[in-house]
Amino acid sequence: MTTNREQLESVLETVGETPLVKVQASPDNVPIYAKLESFNPGASIKDRLGVYLVEQHLERGNIEPGGTIIEPTAGNTGIGIALAATQFDVQAMFVVPENFSVEKQTLMRALGAEVVNTPTEDGMKRAIEHANELAEELDNAIVPQQFSSELNVEAHKATTGPEIWDELDGKVGAIVAGCGTAGTLMGITQYIREQQPAVHVAAVEPEGSLFANTKGKDVEHEEYTIEGIGTSNLATNELFEPDLVDEVQQVSDKDAQAELKRLASEEGQLVGSSAGAASVVAQDVADRIESGKLDVPHETVVTVFPDSSERYLSKGIYDNYEEWVDDS
Ligand code: PMP
Repeated sequence: MTTNREQLESVLETVGETPLVKVQASPDNVPIYAKLESFNPGASIKDRLGVYLVEQHLERGNIEPGGTIIEPTAGNTGIGIALAATQFDVQAMFVVPENFSVEKQTLMRALGAEVVNTPTEDGMKRAIEHANELAEELDNAIVPQQFSSELNVEAHKATTGPEIWDELDGKVGAIVAGCGTAGTLMGITQYIREQQPAVHVAAVEPEGSLFANTKGKDVEHEEYTIEGIGTSNLATNELFEPDLVDEVQQVSDKDAQAELKRLASEEGQLVGSSAGAASVVAQDVADRIESGKLDVPHETVVTVFPDSSERYLSKGIYDNYEEWVDDS
């Protein structure tokens, strides 16, 4: 065990610089490396966004100290924003449909955030409306809008992308990552394409999600249980740029679950279902490189494992995928 950590002054200094670890199921000649984002203090990739949003909104004067950041989310973004808010003079408030993950709501409250519930039957749409209503009622409040804010892409262009590039000494042949808001994939891709224009980029989504339709497919929306990635309405995903992506691959709930169980039992990786999906596609891309079907500038694939399975144990992530509830 080695460590080069110094004493740190605040938990925010532990956000980012996550380990990049080889997926042991990689083909012989084409290694796959995964960024383990559960190593962030709030245990997901969204801590990067939380810190960046709070810092940037304060720096740009969009809110003054003492203000409130309101976001409609029951997902990892809420935990990331709440965690960052503890270290700045801002309040965090989340509008969450009642039925969403109790663990995540509990963590947001523990981090000092206020959680306002909206009725389950009114869905995320009502939560978004209510967040906007609250922002109008309160002085000095903003709704960061992670689905349309360029800050979301910038957070990854400024941190995740450069980390990957440096850790692999620029030997990046393909990038594979799941898309929810698409901030992660767009930010990483924008940074790495500037250094290596020929890098191959694969977006990952659940079967039943609609990003594939931006690349000439004609799929219909269906329910899926993989958490944190996918879209049922392309109009809400303003950050996804199809021109930056070479392919969109869909993964079934069943295949994602089989892979996340394999990652746990064979590789010691306790990751969420979106990581299972990313790993399936990363192995497919690596296999195609290995067999000469896909040309890349370096025979190395990099992917992102966004969070940990511990957040989903009560949903039976390792037991019965049909019963998971999506609450991203
Ligand atoms: N996986 C998980 C578990 C997530 O919470 C998210 C964020 N929705 C993603 C993947 C996708 O990240 P992004 O929103 O940056 O596309």
